[in-house]
Amino acid sequence: MKPCDMICPICNEPWLKAMPDRTGEFEVGYLKRLKCSCESKRAQVYDKMQLVIHRQDCIIENRRYGFFDPSYMQHTFTADDGKNPEITQKCLAYVNNWEAMSANNMGAIFYGPSGTGKTFFACCIANAILENKINSFTRRGDMFPCNEVIIATLPTLVDKLASKTFSRKGDLLKDISMSALLVIDDLGAERLTPYMQGEVFSIINARLLSGKPLIVTTNLTPSELKEPAFRVHARIYHKVLEMCGNFPVLVSGESRWLEIAAKKREEFDKLLVLSK
Ligand SMILES: [Zn+2]
Repeated sequence: MKPCDMICPICNEPWLKAMPDRTGEFEVGYLKRLKCSCESKRAQVYDKMQLVIHRQDCIIENRRYGFFDPSYMQHTFTADDGKNPEITQKCLAYVNNWEAMSANNMGAIFYGPSGTGKTFFACCIANAILENKINSFTRRGDMFPCNEVIIATLPTLVDKLASKTFSRKGDLLKDISMSALLVIDDLGAERLTPYMQGEVFSIINARLLSGKPLIVTTNLTPSELKEPAFRVHARIYHKVLEMCGNFPVLVSGESRWLEIAAKKREEFDKLLVLSK
């Protein structure tokens, strides 16, 4: 006699099916485990969730390694207050044309007075490119390298290259040259001692030779980069302009720092009133 199949109460499909033995008898047959529709659906949802978690892990891992200041990760298009719509548009255009930008070694240079948001916009691009790259993963097992996007100031990079304790020191120069995108924050603020000159030159040169795009932020104007006061700077800046000069973005306007300071003062005053 054929025993009953076990039926899923939700989708009414069998999830345990009685199977006969070789002679067609059910007595020594066995029960075959089947996947009903709702169970398959659950497995799909689980896989999707795991993929989302995996992508998040990859993003965190890249930021932990490649973002040399934790604040860089907060500068995203979602956090943009929209006060510079033209610049936002330019940045989005850069991200949307990333394949072509990358293939043609087209970087960008954000220049203007300090505190206007140059670092913010450069990081918006970097974060978006990192997320787009990682979101293109379709399988959970695909491993994403943690060195795809690097953001740092030159003194930090020079420091890490010289540091004995930095864990991936041996790979750092390779990562600086080969990462999909390198952002150098605050170019021109560093003091170029003879030692720094050599180190900075090798960083910039390695990047240029790799043919991969570089984005810089700087308080210097394009003409100051073209004709710097000191000849030692020219050697470095001319290579930077070669990589980024095609996409100069002037970021001007009120200093965001003043705005932030005013807000903080307001908060502070409120707290003082409350504590009275
Ligand atoms: Zn079911």
